[in-house]
Amino acid sequence: MNPVIGVLALQGDVREHLAALGALGADPVPVRRPTELAACDGLVIPGGESTTMIKLARIFDLLEPLREAVRGGLPAFGTCAGMIMLADRIEDGAPGQESIGGLHITVRRNAFGRQVDSFEEDLHVDGLEEPVRAVFIRAPWVEAVEDDVEVLARVEDGPAAGRIVAVRQGPLMATSFHPEVGSDHRIHGMFVDLVRSAR
Ligand code: GLN
Repeated sequence: MNPVIGVLALQGDVREHLAALGALGADPVPVRRPTELAACDGLVIPGGESTTMIKLARIFDLLEPLREAVRGGLPAFGTCAGMIMLADRIEDGAPGQESIGGLHITVRRNAFGRQVDSFEEDLHVDGLEEPVRAVFIRAPWVEAVEDDVEVLARVEDGPAAGRIVAVRQGPLMATSFHPEVGSDHRIHGMFVDLVRSAR
């Protein structure tokens, strides 16, 4: 059976993720309720605005169920704001900004600064032969990782060269950029494989 992969649908670019997952043969579902979360084999947390998303998660009574699901080993993939949502620690967050956590990283929100807050770059990603065209929109970067976190990609050009922008830790994945933009679904494919192998 195809894995059921939820997309947290509180805010952000939900539709693009649902389309990418559908194109890969997964069974994509929007998630707004704890019962919908409970039916998922994996969960994507989209880009958007992490401060809004975390507030809505609380209002929708989803924050604790999300934390429990991730703690319990639910495969999860966060992009941009979703990476911030999965991070254990946030630098430059809103005062008191919370996260779901689980990913043993420190993320710096809006890290690339005003001058270059949105840009595209070809990136080599561990596990993929050809580079991906990565789209960054007011993106975070990964400031620090613990030993159990695998670095999948780093910025290759410009003043931010060397900064970590894609990671994996067991069933958790996160990218600073937006792989749901465009028609190259190889990064989503990595996550679908991860969900399949975790079942
Ligand atoms: N800057 C946003 C945040 O802090 C993330 C931007 C994005 O997801 N494109 O949540």
